[in-house]
Amino acid sequence: FVRSSRYSRLAPFSSLLSRTISTQTTTKLFINGEFIESQASEWIDVRNPATQEVVTRVPKSTPHELNEAAHSAQHAFSEWRRTSVLTRQRKMLDLQHAIRNNIDRLAESIVAEQGKVLSDARGDVLRGLQVVESMAGITEYLLGHKIEVSADMDTYTVREPLGVVAGICPFNFPAMIPLWMFPVALATGNTCLLKPSERDPGAAMILAELCDQVGIPRGVLNIVHGSHDTVNFLTADKRVRAVSFVGSDKAGKYIYERATQNGKRCQANLGAKNHAVVLPDADREHAINAIVGAAFGAAGQRCMALSVAVFVGDTIDWIPEIIERAKKLRVDGGMEQGADLGPMITPEALKRAESLIQSAIDEGANVLLDGRGYKVAKYPNGNFLGPTVIDDASSSMQCYQQEIFGPVLTCVHAKTLDDALALVNANRYGNGASVFTRSGACARRFQTEVEAGQVGINVPIPVPLPMFSFTGNKGSFLGDTNFYGRSGVSFYTQLKTITSHWRHQDAQAAEERASVHM
Ligand code: NAD
Repeated sequence: FVRSSRYSRLAPFSSLLSRTISTQTTTKLFINGEFIESQASEWIDVRNPATQEVVTRVPKSTPHELNEAAHSAQHAFSEWRRTSVLTRQRKMLDLQHAIRNNIDRLAESIVAEQGKVLSDARGDVLRGLQVVESMAGITEYLLGHKIEVSADMDTYTVREPLGVVAGICPFNFPAMIPLWMFPVALATGNTCLLKPSERDPGAAMILAELCDQVGIPRGVLNIVHGSHDTVNFLTADKRVRAVSFVGSDKAGKYIYERATQNGKRCQANLGAKNHAVVLPDADREHAINAIVGAAFGAAGQRCMALSVAVFVGDTIDWIPEIIERAKKLRVDGGMEQGADLGPMITPEALKRAESLIQSAIDEGANVLLDGRGYKVAKYPNGNFLGPTVIDDASSSMQCYQQEIFGPVLTCVHAKTLDDALALVNANRYGNGASVFTRSGACARRFQTEVEAGQVGINVPIPVPLPMFSFTGNKGSFLGDTNFYGRSGVSFYTQLKTITSHWRHQDAQAAEERASVHM
């Protein structure tokens, strides 16, 4: 493979990044170990959601650049797949160290591009870092099976990498979601084409720089940018064997269908509407705190945000207290000390959330706390939506049907646990659901009967740590093999089963031949 001479080697990325923060520079491609200025004719502005200042411009990669990236990944695969598992394990150990040393830098980039508050941005990095740490155990994950099936005959399995795999990411966790994908892909011996969200690619670029720093070979991780055309390339190019997607329903269904029709494996994590069922025997203080944090934190832009609270029986009386706590949350720029939640990602996302709040009023719900028109003096241009509480919603309303993806809690009432379960199970999504109760029996019933892939018992956001996998179901997931953990390793590997026959008597003959030659 000859590196393209069209591209000139650029200044180290660290200096580019510092310019990125203060001036309107461009986000580079990362192809074959080089940070490359795109030759694209179309660019997307990334604006700071608190100020609307252009932080960077992201290219829509050209067909030539996409082809170069795929070529580089394919070329790198032939060597990378032959590295020993211990070498790849060591790279993961080095990478986790490098990420840990750069948490603040990554988090600051996330705040500038995505808007979340600094503590959430650190959490974004840390949750991804845990996946890298888990990949230090890749030697265990890749162990195969072996059995003697008859005399002198063994059957055993090995897990082999697929080849070039692609990752397509959403805006809401700019570090964590790329880290759900490429470390698992690389540790299992694949090479990767990663497309960060065009709205906040900065963290992925820093991660690419860190991969380079720890000596992950050229071409093993490549970063391409863009939107539809890039996605179309990644889901059709013959060199790409598998596609991991996290994002909205619309894009996910399109990507899943296109990738699988083109013969690729695909795992797609989609939208969500996560319910918290509050039973009258719950610890009131704990449940209220948990709901407030999980509904409004990160401005509700989490796929596991608790966006619906189902108050069973008398617990509807707890709503005023939830509103009081929500009012006390500080909505501010992400770098401001004491900020609890930042702005929404774009003016369009804000407008959409605001119109869903209006639809709740129009359809007969009560908006008990209305965060529309929220002003933050220091950031007059920010996409701010204050915490919003909609009460008396019914399951036919838009505010209940749609994923609002903002700091909006929709409250519904139920008479019994049965009613609550029926409501949750009728919802088309199945990412997460939580129950708040002191009764083991109720919790166990909820856990057994609820149709959601990730269940919290007195836990508001039950995202599994990476010794498990992220297991959304129903309308929140397409595919059959989940992200990270054992499932993630299965997704990025294929089994080979070998049956070998080494006859006992041949050993004797070989020994005799050897003794003749001595
Ligand atoms: P999005 O679907 O708009 O974008 C995700 C990716 O798909 C981006 O890289 C984008 O370039 C691409 N894309 C967008 N529209 C496309 C189209 N029409 N055709 C082809 N590609 C397209 O998602 P987002 O707004 O960035 O992220 C928010 C969504 O992601 C929410 O719905 C949230 O629930 C979901 N999400 C889900 C999980 C999960 O694990 N279930 C985790 C995080 C986010």
